[in-house]
Amino acid sequence: MILRAKYVMPDSRTIIENGAVAIQGAEIVDVGPYPMIRHSAAPPIHDLGEAILTPGLVNAHTHLDLTSSADSVQRVPKFTDWVFQIVGKRNPSTIEPSIREGVQQSLAGGVTTVGDIDGTGGSVQVLRGTPIRKVVFFEVLGFSGEHAAAGLARLTAYLDSAPVPDSLLTPALSPHAPYSTSADIYRQCVASGLSVCTHIAETKEELEFLSDGTGAFVDYLEAFGISTAGWHPPQATPMQYMETLGVLDKNSLLAHCNYLTDADVTILAKSGASVVFCPRSHHYFYHTDHPILQLVERGINVAIGTDSLASNWSLSLLDELKFLAHIQPSIRPEMLLDLVTCNGATALGLERVGRLDKGWQADIIAVQVPNDGRPIIERIFDSTSENLLTVVGGKICYSSSHEEE
Ligand SMILES: [Zn+2]
Repeated sequence: MILRAKYVMPDSRTIIENGAVAIQGAEIVDVGPYPMIRHSAAPPIHDLGEAILTPGLVNAHTHLDLTSSADSVQRVPKFTDWVFQIVGKRNPSTIEPSIREGVQQSLAGGVTTVGDIDGTGGSVQVLRGTPIRKVVFFEVLGFSGEHAAAGLARLTAYLDSAPVPDSLLTPALSPHAPYSTSADIYRQCVASGLSVCTHIAETKEELEFLSDGTGAFVDYLEAFGISTAGWHPPQATPMQYMETLGVLDKNSLLAHCNYLTDADVTILAKSGASVVFCPRSHHYFYHTDHPILQLVERGINVAIGTDSLASNWSLSLLDELKFLAHIQPSIRPEMLLDLVTCNGATALGLERVGRLDKGWQADIIAVQVPNDGRPIIERIFDSTSENLLTVVGGKICYSSSHEEE
């Protein structure tokens, strides 16, 4: 198969006019000017007209199992009140339709890879049959007493029969957050050798809880019958706490990181860990400005996520980028594209994903952009731009003209 378009951007710094990408099986076999590429692969040839072909977008943090129940979640100012609404929203009857709908919405929004949090252990089997690339983080939590023991038992059972990876699926772990998950569970997750994603430094209440053992999270845990009585707060920031638990390395992905000290940023920069920022979810919870610019300047790998539909308005990463471009106009367009392509792939530990090159995975989208005089890359983030085609592993998974293969 060959995809041809007015522009091809193999990465954020390269533009090929009248370009094409040749695909055989799941891989890209050639990229270049169309006249040179037109015989590089067998037909069909799909002509995307005036569009731009770019690497597919990587949504590094989402919870697809909440897709269909999101409408019943109210936007409330207090984070713990919001979390209370989420508890019990996932059940066997909602998971399958949620995941299927979430995958469809993602593919339509230009997403070729998701880093998905599996809140029940039920997402992975549904996701396995879907055409999107996915790193599936099995969520584990348990703070103290029986709650922690049950969490550890659940983790052990999962590791004993961990899902088998395939060409589109990578199993991983998500110790939930420092206010819900014991130090022991964090250590066991790290010891598994699987990639680890955790929610940290998300709220000011989390900082208070870890520093003094007080605040809204004490009430939150007690409402679930979970005691903090025998627990000694680490008297540290979330980042310092993660460092002492051995969580921070190139296999770790830290969701949110909304509230960091300068010392936290230094720890993070040395560790090789990645951060995933969720711009619209951040806005949904009325957080103060995210330190994304500081993180990027320090050379930290930052990716972008939509989080779930319970705290966002869509699962489209193209929409997420347009929002980010609007609220952070100082981020250069090349960096915007990097955040959702190569950075996202690095954050999820995926190789040969995130650029268009020979031997790389054929994960590609075609974006229709306005025909004006601005630099090509800027037009991708225009409010009117639209995804026309999503290809994952060499297969067309979404087409706005419904010409699916
Ligand atoms: Zn999350």
